[in-house]
Amino acid sequence: MTDVSRRAFLATTAVSLGAGLAGPGVPSAVAADNDFTDLVDAHVHVWTPDTAAWPIAAEFTKADMQPASFTAEELLATCRPHGVSRVVLIQMSFYGFDNSYMLDCIHRHPAAFAGVGIVDHDKPGVAAEMRALNERGVRGFRLYANRKNAQAWADSAGMQAMWECGADENLAMCLLADPDALPAIAAQVARSPKTPVVIDHFARLGMKGGLESPEAKADMERLLKLADYAEVNVKLSAFYALGAKKPPYDDLAPMMRRLRDAYGAKRLMWATDCPYQLDQGPAGEAHSYEASLALVRDRLDFLSREERLDILRNTARRVFFDGLA
Ligand SMILES: [Zn+2]
Repeated sequence: MTDVSRRAFLATTAVSLGAGLAGPGVPSAVAADNDFTDLVDAHVHVWTPDTAAWPIAAEFTKADMQPASFTAEELLATCRPHGVSRVVLIQMSFYGFDNSYMLDCIHRHPAAFAGVGIVDHDKPGVAAEMRALNERGVRGFRLYANRKNAQAWADSAGMQAMWECGADENLAMCLLADPDALPAIAAQVARSPKTPVVIDHFARLGMKGGLESPEAKADMERLLKLADYAEVNVKLSAFYALGAKKPPYDDLAPMMRRLRDAYGAKRLMWATDCPYQLDQGPAGEAHSYEASLALVRDRLDFLSREERLDILRNTARRVFFDGLA
């Protein structure tokens, strides 16, 4: 048995024990091992090769879809053996503003999925559309935050309506941010301090040029400063794309420790960014689902057991699954 399949077997066994057999006669060590189940992966994209039923946006072709298929069912088969029972689906760019494949996945697996949708803030009635999507399991909205468009938020009535609706309905603004957008993001958070915010992938610090450059260090200070706002949360995710980009990703540990110190584990959530973090990635990388999970579950020696569970389960449940579970 390979290490991965052994772990998968153990995780599956732990799930079934937790589901039905715990009780008198079950050693307490087993109960403790069961703690790392019912985890939440806070960021995954799904799509289907059936583009006749689920058309992709005009600016994409099927060749852009790599891997060719990553359906809800393929996702569940990937994550469940690792003790991950819930996933936040992030609307995929291929589908533009058409959230319907993601909504269909949530409809078919309501206990497993919550959604982060993409809406057109320039269209009239954007808040009404957010509320309608919320009825169908969408709990957040994705915003692309590079420096230029984040600076334009201040003057956009539609964007301000989105942030206001987020505060009113407890819907998160989920920011795929470039580091140079952090000053504009800070200004928006100051305007809308009651709106829940989730910053993806550490604001992609270290995606270009590593983590040690003066620019990366200044960006890190800006990201840490956003912790002053209680509604801001950060995803610890996309390890395959950051820093050394190499398992076991220990080079990310100092950054994660500083985020824990600033935000506390209750405002940090783990995610893989599948299907870009898979045993066989699109380019056959050495990355794996297990390696992403193991960094938070088994390594990072500055984390307590409780903090690991906050990052792997509780924070994402609070932000994305309250009221749906
Ligand atoms: Zn992603």
